[in-house]
Amino acid sequence: MTLNPNIIGYRCVSCGQECPPEPFRYTCAECKNNLEVVYDYASIGSDWSRDDLTANRDRSLWRYLPLLPVSAAPDNHTISAGGTPLVTVTQLAERYDLAALHIKDDSRNPSGSLKDRATEIALRHAHELGQQVLVAASTGNAASSLAALAAFYGKQAVILAPAAAPPAKLTQIMQYGATLCLIDGTYDEAFDLSVTAAEAHGWYCRSTGINPVLSEGKKTAALEIAEQLNWQVPDQVFVPVGDGSIISGVCKGFYDLHQLGWITSMPRVVAVQARGSAAIVNALAGDGAIIPVKADTIADSISVSLPRDGLKAVRAVRASGGYGIRVSDEDILRSQKQLSQDTGIFAEPAAAAAFAGLLQALNQGQVRHGESVVALITGSGLKDIPAAQQNLVFPAPIKPDPAAFNAFIETASQSGTLSL
Ligand SMILES: *Cc1c(COP(=O)(O)O)cnc(C)c1O
Ligand SMILES: [Zn+2]
Repeated sequence: MTLNPNIIGYRCVSCGQECPPEPFRYTCAECKNNLEVVYDYASIGSDWSRDDLTANRDRSLWRYLPLLPVSAAPDNHTISAGGTPLVTVTQLAERYDLAALHIKDDSRNPSGSLKDRATEIALRHAHELGQQVLVAASTGNAASSLAALAAFYGKQAVILAPAAAPPAKLTQIMQYGATLCLIDGTYDEAFDLSVTAAEAHGWYCRSTGINPVLSEGKKTAALEIAEQLNWQVPDQVFVPVGDGSIISGVCKGFYDLHQLGWITSMPRVVAVQARGSAAIVNALAGDGAIIPVKADTIADSISVSLPRDGLKAVRAVRASGGYGIRVSDEDILRSQKQLSQDTGIFAEPAAAAAFAGLLQALNQGQVRHGESVVALITGSGLKDIPAAQQNLVFPAPIKPDPAAFNAFIETASQSGTLSL
């Protein structure tokens, strides 16, 4: 099976060395840094148009096949990664005096996070390379995603996850039947072990930041945002950042469309990190070099000491005219609750960080009145119930009689949760 003929090859994000599309390699032969996929946009644009997309009824990410690093879509891809709604929140746009505010709700993917976009591509890529076993290190979502989609596509998944990952994510991994290896250590340690294990056993490696096809899957979120906005891109897009793979992908998606001439400008892409895990934002504020931190944040999906796609992310954000924002855990939890109560969307803490970053940018004047913005919500709040519960006060049970109920309603209206 030959690769997408529109792929010229891979380019190293650090030394610029190019290598051919085949045989596939994970990292640069010269300097071991990350690779990005290089496309022939003239050839892609010559037999694929925006009208073709309009006519295509496949809502999954496979509608963007000419821009994906595989040769074909799986025959049956009805599990349907991607194709998530862009939710327009008029009342918030009005409150903050914005031209438009949209939430790209990627919690609505098969396993509940944006990671399904990358997993979908990785599984197809592995299949085309004749591989049956995939290994991944993960803070939880990449793992639950791989476990879910591997079950659908009939592949085997070996997962390395920190024992401290949220129980819902670990439960997903077990429930979908993957092989879970709990690591008595950090995500960063699990990552190193996954790379060693992939080499030693000849398995396909789905760990972030080592495999260039993953950000190609993640970029489909940007392709969808542009298409859903009828190719009028927003002024700014807020993305939560851990390893920097999602944000690199989002920038790549807009870049691809700009190269094709389907959008006339790039949005500024904003990297939002937790204060306790801000290596990429620190680099954006400094000279661009990544200095590892000692990660400490409630937002487990963006708790990363050494970002594995850090360089790619810093370059991509800068090229878009974007910038970085740090948010506190307190802000994350507060914004998580506000997002739910103002929009009906329940984000996990890492995903809510994007919204927290948007609110902070509004406060600091980095987002101006009349701008249009998108916040990328990367994962579902149901994946970490204890985190959300920290900010909720449950009512005491009452006796099932009308007097007790009326007293309860009286209290509820005094506390402001109900206005009658
Ligand atoms: C993985 C993940 C992120 C961060 O993505 P990176 O590629 O590591 O920067 C953010 N939010 C959620 C929900 C995630 O699962
Ligand atoms: Zn290199």
